[in-house]
Amino acid sequence: MLSFERLQKYGHEEVVFFSDPATNLKVIIAIHNTVLGPSLGGTRMWPYESEEAALTDVLRLSRGMTYKAAVTGLPLGGGKAVIIGDPEKDKSEAFFRSYGKFIETLNGRYVTAEDVNITVEDMEHVYKETTFVTGIAKDHGGSGNPAPYTALGVFRGIEASLLKVFGDKSPKGKVFAIQGAGEVGHRLGKLLVEGGAKIFVSDINKKKLDHFIETVPGSEIVGVDEIYDVDCDVYTPAALGGTVNEFTIPRLKCKIIAGPANNQLARPEHGDMLREKGILYAPDYLINAGGLINVSLEFEGWSHEKSVKKVNSIFDTTLEIFKISESENIPIYKAADHLAEKRIEEGRAFRDRFINTATPLFPGRGR
Ligand code: NAD
Repeated sequence: MLSFERLQKYGHEEVVFFSDPATNLKVIIAIHNTVLGPSLGGTRMWPYESEEAALTDVLRLSRGMTYKAAVTGLPLGGGKAVIIGDPEKDKSEAFFRSYGKFIETLNGRYVTAEDVNITVEDMEHVYKETTFVTGIAKDHGGSGNPAPYTALGVFRGIEASLLKVFGDKSPKGKVFAIQGAGEVGHRLGKLLVEGGAKIFVSDINKKKLDHFIETVPGSEIVGVDEIYDVDCDVYTPAALGGTVNEFTIPRLKCKIIAGPANNQLARPEHGDMLREKGILYAPDYLINAGGLINVSLEFEGWSHEKSVKKVNSIFDTTLEIFKISESENIPIYKAADHLAEKRIEEGRAFRDRFINTATPLFPGRGR
């Protein structure tokens, strides 16, 4: 249930429910923090089993976006949207235009993009009604699908993790267990195999698995539950969150957990458990920031070269976080949180001192 107590516990500024019976649109937008800039985060569409499940997801995801932007050094806040619905049946142009009209009413405090089950085509309909949207088609000054850049950033984070654990950043000869053969998991699988890795993959969707196996040489399928038991060097969550928990940690045989899925740790203390077990955890919101970095460049004029250069910096930031963890003798997930929180506090102090206004607004894209 939504309550002020719940909002204050994790520092959310605003949560908005929007319903349009004409198109059967049901969306919740959570704006977590706008200290560093307008909140930006993707829209996820999922057939949530309850409104409570959707609310919990959007609260967790929006907070993650604040930390992701801050740790990456972007002038953005954190927000997220979840649409309760079946992506196979409920989508239509009217549905997304209605959603776009709603986003417009928030006047730039929330800027959207793609997330799970949302495509560039869907965002193009949103763009017909609002300019507070990123990840639109390149013809309209957008950057298109962020997934390739997310995959590249995760790859860089994996390289940094391999360097830390094995003294060599190359994935050559290393075994990966990838959970989720979707947009990012599939692209990441290709990059890893090009680098000489061996892949085991699981997915609940047979079509996506078949496509993965056909296009990622040497990869092998494992069962949805067996993925936690694979004898591997790296476990790569690339589906939904919460898969690193008290039930899965005892089963994991990997030395590293690094992947694109948001909110991989079911609870923060699972990061402590990983440390005790000697598993290096590359913070999800840090290494999956490539997509956010990519869409954020739309504000200043996107180019592929600019994006790749900035996304590659995830390698150095990941190593920096490992160093903080060591020098402060704290788990890696806490080191990332500390750096993000420090940047938000510095931003707050700067804003209070020099700007003295509410959130700096995203001016919106020209048409
Ligand atoms: P996607 O929907 O294309 O892929 C997710 C895949 O996971 C699907 O193929 C789905 O069938 C599969 N899946 C769902 N439950 C599963 C389970 N229990 N076991 C195995 N597979 C399962 O989504 P995506 O864009 O590839 O995103 C993957 C993850 O990365 C998500 O958590 C997303 O929030 C995160 N992420 C994505 C981006 C991006 O640019 N797309 C950016 C940052 C973070």
